[in-house]
Amino acid sequence: MFRFKTLMLALILGLCSNMLHAANVILIIGDGMDDHQISIARNYLKGAQGRLLLDDMPLRAAVQILTVEDSTEHKPVYVADSANTATTLATGVVTSRGRISTAAGSDEDLPTIAELASAAGLRSGIVTSASVTDATPAAFAAHVSLRLCENPNKMLDINYRGIPLGNCKQDLKAAGGPGSIAEQLAASSLDILLGGGSKHFSPEIEGGNISVAEAAQANGFTLVHNLEQLHNAPADARLLGLFAPGTLPVRLQGEGQRSAEAAKPSLLNRLHPYLGSVSYPDVMRCEANPQAEGIPTLKAMTEVALEYLSRDNPTGFFLMVESASIDKQAHERKPCGSIGEMEQLEEVLATAMAFAENQPDTLILVTADHAQAAQLVPDGSMYKDYNIPVYSPGMVARIVTPEGAIMGVNYATNNYPYEEHTGANVPLFGNSEAQAYVPAFIQQSDLFNIMRDYLGLKPEVELRD
Ligand SMILES: [Zn+2]
Repeated sequence: MFRFKTLMLALILGLCSNMLHAANVILIIGDGMDDHQISIARNYLKGAQGRLLLDDMPLRAAVQILTVEDSTEHKPVYVADSANTATTLATGVVTSRGRISTAAGSDEDLPTIAELASAAGLRSGIVTSASVTDATPAAFAAHVSLRLCENPNKMLDINYRGIPLGNCKQDLKAAGGPGSIAEQLAASSLDILLGGGSKHFSPEIEGGNISVAEAAQANGFTLVHNLEQLHNAPADARLLGLFAPGTLPVRLQGEGQRSAEAAKPSLLNRLHPYLGSVSYPDVMRCEANPQAEGIPTLKAMTEVALEYLSRDNPTGFFLMVESASIDKQAHERKPCGSIGEMEQLEEVLATAMAFAENQPDTLILVTADHAQAAQLVPDGSMYKDYNIPVYSPGMVARIVTPEGAIMGVNYATNNYPYEEHTGANVPLFGNSEAQAYVPAFIQQSDLFNIMRDYLGLKPEVELRD
């Protein structure tokens, strides 16, 4: 339920805060970007002896991910989703899976760093390769109890093949709530919002006869739908860029659109694990995805966002950029797709670092929201000399790297068509500005405090009743 009073109190406190200096925060989130994904990407993009831009960042730390059950007891859950972790990054509060900046158990709305920044006179922006209504971007500017409530038609009776997945009844405007995620983004005070998800802006707003996109325009957003419009948008407008119906197409794909595949044991091996043989999937190369042609890259969107947020701005800004499909492609067991998204994240980081060269009061943090399924495994078991067929029970991709070697990537979290997240720590990287603020080991919620303090959004905001 939308707790208007609490949110307004927090926003007013943010507004009244004394800003020490005009500072900027650029938070880059690699969704699902754990050390397996980073190692896989390094091997492919830079070679086994090469270095990613991430590897040369002055600061590296480990982030502990916390999740709780949806109750007031806050019993731990050991594997997160993007909704609860983005909520933690955006608000500093640990919550339950599926929630978008609402509290576990109480459903209280939690003020986000983008909202606090806007209320204090700073600019704020979000860039993503997902739909802008997807969990990670949504958690920075919307408040609903369930991440699937992405547009006005998806507030009630949300189901997958007839299986009910929940609803957002209490978030309906008719119930005194703020409406769906798309409606909240349209009504937000963000200065720039770029990504996919146009299909969520075409339904009519709840209780009105205009579309969500028209509501966004009425709230001062200029809408753009392609690269040319993005580059020619008026300089003084607030910008909403929607470049695909849903998630933006990824840069790389497996040849013939292959994903990881199962090893095939012979009949004899099925009778006894020490007998017979096993055939592994054929090797595959990564190739360009033709669907991505003409779609703005994360780098292009970030460049525009930085220009919009920094131009004639004496107060500073908060910008979140998400490389979303490291995660989404890992769910589908598509390592080439994840590698291409890692490359996009590297390009965004280069853009952010170049920006910070000229704007020294810029804190750059790069982290993941949670770990993912992909594992870098041997191509050929280390037990192969035992002369028995040893193979992964998961799905395996054997990728030919530009160095001509074969890299094994394994997915084995479940027997379902979509892999699960995993619960390990994730890495955090920062520029030299981050070195003074970030310890070697940190809880995810502390990153909110660091960003809020860096932007001068003090005093402490009491988020809970
Ligand atoms: Zn995911």
